[in-house]
Amino acid sequence: MESVRCTHCSNRVLVEKYSEAHTSIQWLDDADSVCPEFARTRTAQEGRAWIPTCGRLQQTIDDLVVSGRIGLSPRSYPVPGRLE
Ligand SMILES: [Zn+2]
Repeated sequence: MESVRCTHCSNRVLVEKYSEAHTSIQWLDDADSVCPEFARTRTAQEGRAWIPTCGRLQQTIDDLVVSGRIGLSPRSYPVPGRLE
C-alpha cells in the first residue's frame, strides 16, 4: 500500500488501488480526531451507516492516481498495510 498524506489535514493513510472503482483506504489513526473534514462529514450524516470520507483526502488520492504516483495494485485482494 502507498502512504498518502492528506493535503488538507496532514492525516496519513495507506492507499491501494485495485481497479478504477475499488480503492482501499486504511486509516492509521482515529479518523474523527485526525481529520476535521471526516468528523464533520460524519456528524452531518448523523451516524448513518455510510463510511464517511474526507473529500480533500479523496482529491489528494485522485491527484496521485492521475499523476501516476499510485498505480493499480498487482494484487486483486487487500493485504494488511504496514508503516515503512
Ligand atoms: Zn483530511
